[in-house]
Amino acid sequence: MALANCDRCGKLFNKTTRGICPNCVREEEQVFEEIKAYIRANDAATIEDVASAIGVDEELVLHYLQEGRLEITESLAYPCLNCGKSIKIGKYCKTCLEELESSMFGVASELKKKLDTKKATGAYFSQRDDFKKR
Ligand SMILES: [Zn+2]
Ligand SMILES: [Zn+2]
Repeated sequence: MALANCDRCGKLFNKTTRGICPNCVREEEQVFEEIKAYIRANDAATIEDVASAIGVDEELVLHYLQEGRLEITESLAYPCLNCGKSIKIGKYCKTCLEELESSMFGVASELKKKLDTKKATGAYFSQRDDFKKR
């Protein structure tokens, strides 16, 4: 067993798979249950409402929503990290996820942009000719 400082409260504890101590795990679970109960009782609550009612950061509420562990009402929908469309599960909307998965997105389009720039300066083609000669 290795001793480590809890990521949340800084106390020393016997490190488990999580970076926080058993005390904080229990507290987090409690907060999670409170958030869940609040959402059940207030189905028009927004993320801000929940955060201020429970006394936690909006980011924590968002984190739980993204994990998909909470029932999400219309008012709790949050923006897709890529296009900003309202979503209720995960970090991206379905469309963006599909694009990400088909890998024609992000790295690939960045690469294409670079190639297009090179093409415009002629560098791209001369490089390719060199390649063919070899
Ligand atoms: Zn702790
Ligand atoms: Zn999206």
